Order: sequence, then C-alpha cells, then structure tokens
Amino acid sequence: RECSEQLSHLEETSIPGEGAFMDLTANVDITWDVPDEPLTAAIDRQMLRRVLVNLVRNAVQAIRDAAPEAARTSEASVIGHVQVKALAEDDGAVITIDDDGPGVPEEARSRIFDPYFTTKHDGTGLGLAIVKKVVVEHGGAIDVGESHLGGARFIVHLPRTITQA
Ligand code: ADP
Ligand code: MG
Repeated sequence: RECSEQLSHLEETSIPGEGAFMDLTANVDITWDVPDEPLTAAIDRQMLRRVLVNLVRNAVQAIRDAAPEAARTSEASVIGHVQVKALAEDDGAVITIDDDGPGVPEEARSRIFDPYFTTKHDGTGLGLAIVKKVVVEHGGAIDVGESHLGGARFIVHLPRTITQA
C-alpha cells in the first residue's frame, strides 16, 4: 500500500467526472488549484479520492442546504463556490477545501469528526469520521476552521512518506 499519489493528477481523477456526484454539485462552482510540478503524498488514489469526495460533498451540501429552493433548482444560477487547493510542504502536501456556505459553528468544530455527529436530517455523520481515520492512518492531520470565502475551511496535511500513525 506504499504507493505514492501524484496530487497534480487530481484534475483528471477528480470529482466532477463522477456521475452520481454531478447531480449534487448542481449550481455550485468548484475550482481546482494544483501546482504544475508533481506533488507527492503517501496515499493511494482510492483513499485520496474518498477523502476529497467526502470533503467536497460536504461543502456542496452545506451551500445547497443554505440556499433558497428557487436558487438551487434554477437553470443558470451559481449559488456558491468550493475551492480545492494543493500545495507542496517540506515533508509532504497540504490540501485545503474552502467554501462560502454557512461554515461550521465554533462549538461544533470539536465534534464534527466524531462518528454519527450530523446536523442533516438524512445525514449519517460518518463522512468526516472516515476522512479523519484515513488521514491519520496515513500519518497526516486534518483541521477545520473559517474560510476566507466566508464558510468552512478544511485543511489536510499528508506526509510524503508513510509514517506510523
Ligand atoms: P454528514 O455529512 O452525514 O452529516 P459528516 O461526518 O460528513 O456527516 O459531517 C458531519 C457534520 O459536519 C455535518 O452534518 C455538518 O454539520 C458539518 N459539516 C461538515 N462539512 C461542513 C461544511 N463544509 N460546512 C458546514 N458544515 C459542515
Ligand atoms: Mg458528509
């Protein structure tokens, strides 16, 4: 499982191509900002995809749940933005997922990674628990805070080489 993922290939493998996911992203503008030079992190493609799909899906859901019905369903309106960025770090990579949704209230931030914590009527509360488990098992770290876009910001650090979690 020690296979390195080239984060700069994210653009090809990325979420917008996924059929089921496309519906969910309706009217939300998602941008990817990854450097041209290869970025390496010790995580396999499937696991990285799982992490990113969960984080982007949450961002899109937060935006859509906060938007008026009319805006969500109208043909041509953009109701929110999600920005995914990847950067090289000395010993690995950092990926940030920003959105301009309602954000995560400060008092909830310590709990959102707990299994079964959800604020959605049909949520499982498992997405972030899985994301955190995967990231930590790869020797990385994940944090949540406020985004410069006005909503939530998730920051994922992944080491270049696998370290014992
Ligand atoms: P679920 O999506 O099933 O609710 P998750 O573990 O993925 O479970 O997320 C847990 C909770 O964290 C969500 O219910 C929501 O309250 C909060 N959350 C996660 N991502 C965001 C986000 N980008 N903006 C606002 N709240 C968020
Ligand atoms: Mg989720």
